Amino acid sequence: MPIDPTLPYDETNIFARILRGEIPNKTVYEDEHVLAFHDIAPQAPTHILVIPKGAYVSWDDFSERASEGEIAAFIRAVGRIAREAGLVEPGYRLLANTGVHAGQEVPHLHVHIFAGRPLGPMLAR
Ligand code: AMP
Repeated sequence: MPIDPTLPYDETNIFARILRGEIPNKTVYEDEHVLAFHDIAPQAPTHILVIPKGAYVSWDDFSERASEGEIAAFIRAVGRIAREAGLVEPGYRLLANTGVHAGQEVPHLHVHIFAGRPLGPMLAR
């Protein structure tokens, strides 16, 4: 079920549990503020999720409340992960679902990185 991003942060969400080490993940990158890992149900040959370590529900919440340091670390990490995975050529797509209309399912901010084949139109038709 898509989540309501205006609700308070839910400490039991699956990415919070990954951050606490309660369930495994296939880590791609980690630093003080950021964790990136492979999506469990990939929708492209490369499908990586990048999350901040802080408790933020969505892009909306993060962009409003996160510190400059957290925001800089997150944005730089997304670019670095894509570069280090060799995705800049021939290209990649970023996606951050926010709220019900976007179909956000996990209520912890995550940016999807898709790559590895032509990705088609931006939105389903
Ligand atoms: P969204 O619909 O934007 O909220 O995306 C949630 C994503 O999390 C989906 O692509 C899921 O496949 C992915 N996902 C859910 N549980 C896990 C998990 N335990 N490890 C890695 N990815 C997950």
